[in-house]
Amino acid sequence: MAGLLWVALLLLSSCRGSPTGRTQTLSEDLTSNSSLPSAGESQPTAAPTSGLTSTTNETSKTPEEEEGPPELECPPLGLESLRVKDGQLRASSFKRRGLGPHRGRLNIQSGIEDGDIYDGAWCARHRDKNQWLEVDARRLTRFTGVILQGRNSIWSWDVVHSYKVQFSNDTLVWKPSMNGSQEAVYEGNKDAETPVLAVFNTSTVARYIRINPQTWYQNGSDGDICLRAEVLGCALPDPKDVWQTEPTETDDQLDFRHHNYKEMRKLMKSVNDECPDITRIYTIGKSHGGLKLYVMEISDNPGKHELGEPEFRYVAGMHGNEALGRELVLNLMQYMCRQYKRGDERVVHLVKETRIHLLPSMNPDGYETAFKKGSELAGWALGRYSHEGIDMNHNFADLNSVMWTAIELETDRSKLINHYFPIPEKYTSEDAFVASETRAVISWMQNIPFVLGANLHGGEVVVTYPFDMTRDWAPREHTPTPDDSFFRWLAAAYASTNQVMSDPDRRPCHNTDFLRSNNIINGAAWHNVPGSMNDFSYLHTNCFEITVELSCDKFPHASELPLEWRNNRESLLVFMEQVHRGIKGVIRDKDSGEGIADAVIKVDEIDHHIRSVADGDFWRLLNPGEYQVTVTAEGYRPSSRTCWVRYDLHPTVCDFHLTKIPQQKAKGRSLSKDLQLRLRQQRLRKLRIATKAINRRRAAAAGRRQTVR
Ligand SMILES: [Zn+2]
Repeated sequence: MAGLLWVALLLLSSCRGSPTGRTQTLSEDLTSNSSLPSAGESQPTAAPTSGLTSTTNETSKTPEEEEGPPELECPPLGLESLRVKDGQLRASSFKRRGLGPHRGRLNIQSGIEDGDIYDGAWCARHRDKNQWLEVDARRLTRFTGVILQGRNSIWSWDVVHSYKVQFSNDTLVWKPSMNGSQEAVYEGNKDAETPVLAVFNTSTVARYIRINPQTWYQNGSDGDICLRAEVLGCALPDPKDVWQTEPTETDDQLDFRHHNYKEMRKLMKSVNDECPDITRIYTIGKSHGGLKLYVMEISDNPGKHELGEPEFRYVAGMHGNEALGRELVLNLMQYMCRQYKRGDERVVHLVKETRIHLLPSMNPDGYETAFKKGSELAGWALGRYSHEGIDMNHNFADLNSVMWTAIELETDRSKLINHYFPIPEKYTSEDAFVASETRAVISWMQNIPFVLGANLHGGEVVVTYPFDMTRDWAPREHTPTPDDSFFRWLAAAYASTNQVMSDPDRRPCHNTDFLRSNNIINGAAWHNVPGSMNDFSYLHTNCFEITVELSCDKFPHASELPLEWRNNRESLLVFMEQVHRGIKGVIRDKDSGEGIADAVIKVDEIDHHIRSVADGDFWRLLNPGEYQVTVTAEGYRPSSRTCWVRYDLHPTVCDFHLTKIPQQKAKGRSLSKDLQLRLRQQRLRKLRIATKAINRRRAAAAGRRQTVR
C-alpha cells in the first residue's frame, strides 16, 4: 500500500515527484500553419461588434528548424500561466466543481484521488456535441490556434478526439472557425498528456472563443467530455479597453527570452565581458550528453575564497523542463552586472560582501529536449530527467536514513553525529546509479564552503525547506530539521517578497492551496522526497538550502518572462542577503594565530553543528537571539562564549582563540583529523575516482565511435 501511495504521489506531485512520462508527439498541424503580420500593425484596432474579422493564411511556414522550437505566431493567452483568471472561463455545463471550467487549463494537475475540488480537467455534465468551454479574452484578440490535452488523472481516461471552434464578440452571435467553405474540425488528443496544437487556417478577431468537442473517448457509454486547453491569440490594442489594467512588466532591460545551451553560453560570456572585474565563468563538470555545467561567479574578487566572506549559490534547472529558474538566474547575472556598474548600493554591497555562484542549468540535456518542443508543447514531463532517465532530486545520497538508523540503534547519545555525515559506501562505486550531473554538484559542494543556497524549480508556487524526506517512508509527514525556525525564516523571506506568492487573492496552481500556510511548507510535509539535494546539503555540508517552486507553469511562454522577473527580482535579492544573518568568525590557534580548519561549532539547543573551513572561518546562520556557542577542535581545549544575533542584516562577529592541549603540541597535527571527517573525505575521494573512471570510459567510447566513422 505504501508502495502504491508512493507511486501515486510520484505521479501527481507538481515538480518534485515524477509526473506521467508518456512520449510526446508534435501535432502534424504544425506544418499547415502560416504567418501573419503581428498584432496591431496591419489589423484593425477594433472589430465591429457583430461582424467578425477573419484573415485567411496564405504564406506557409518555414519547416521546423533542427534546433529551435516551433515558432508560435501568437502567444498563449495564459490559461496555463493563470494570466487568464477563473472568471474568464465558462462552460456549457460541468460535472462538478472539481471539474469546472476553471480546471480546463493546459497542464493542470489533479490531486491523487479523483472527486475532490482539484481534478485534472474541465468535464462537461452532458455527453453530446453541444458542450463547450469558453474563454473571454476580455479584449479583441486575433485568435490563431488552440492546444489541447486530455484529463489528468490516475484513475480516469478521458480525451477529446476532435473538436470545432467558434468565435463571438458578444456571446450571442457565434461564428464557426472555417476550413475553406467547410466548418473546420480539429484533431484533438490520442492520449491524455501529450499537448496537441491546432493552428487555425483562418485567424479570427473576436473577444470570445469556444472549444466545442465533437468526438471523444467513449469507454462504452461511460466516456466523459474532458479537456485541458490553451488558446493562442494576439491581443489587439484598444485604448478603450477597460481591462487593460496590467501594470508595465519591468523597467529592467534584460534579455527576456528562452536561451538554449548555445545561447546561454553566449549570454554568460557577454555578462563576463561587460563586468570582467566582478565575474568569472567556470564549469563544474559535464552532463551525460557532454554539455558543460557552467557557473557564473559574482564577487569583488572572483576566483578565490576571501576570509570571512560567505559563499552563496543558486542552482536552477535540475529538472530540465522547469525552465523559468534558468532564465531568472540568467536575468539575475545581467541585472547584478548592470546595477553594480551603475553603483546600485544594494548590489555593490552584495557583490563586495558575498561570493555568489549561479548555476543556471544543472540538467542541460533535459532542458534541450524540452526546449526543442517549445514552451507550450513539451507537456508536463518531457525533459525533466537526465539523459539517462535519472531524477536528480532523488539522486543524492540518502543521509537521512543513515542518521535516523543511527539514532534508533545507538543508545549512547554522545556517540551520535549530527552533521558532516559521510556518504554511504554503496553510493560511491562506479556502478552506483548516480548521474554525472549529481556527481559534479557533490564535488562542487565539497570544493566551495557554501553557506546558503536555493534550488529553483517550477510547476508550483511555494517555497519548501528541509527535511524533504519523511522518517519511516510516510507519504507525507512534517519532518523538521534542528534548524527549523531559521529554515522557516528563509522560506518566508523568499515567499513574502515574491509578488505572486504574496498576492492574497491568487488561486492555487494545481491541487494544493499553499496560501493557507503563507506559501511555505516543510518539504516532507508536502510529499516524501528521499535523496533530495537540500537534505544532502544540510547533512553533508555546512550549507542550508531551500527549494523555490517559481511558477504554476513549468515552462512559461517567453512573453511571460519580463513579468516573472518582476515577480521574483526582490525575492532573489532578499534571499541572497540572508547569508549575512547569524554569527560568523574565525577560529585561531591562540599562540600562532593560525586559522584552525574543521573545528566544530556547536550552538546550545540546536542539534546540528557546523565546521570551520580551510582558513578557520565559519558562518552559523541563526535567527536573532542570544546563543551560547562552543567551539571544539582536535588537540585544543574547547572554548565557549555568548553571541548575540541582532535583527539587522549584519552577522555578529564571534571569533575564537583556542589553546592547544599541551601533550598534543609535540605530536603534530597529522593525527588530529577525527574519524567522521576521515570517513567523509575517503568516501568522497572514492566517488570522485568512480566518476573519473566513468568519464574515461565514456570518452574512450566516444573516441571509438569517431574512428569507426
Ligand atoms: Zn522540479
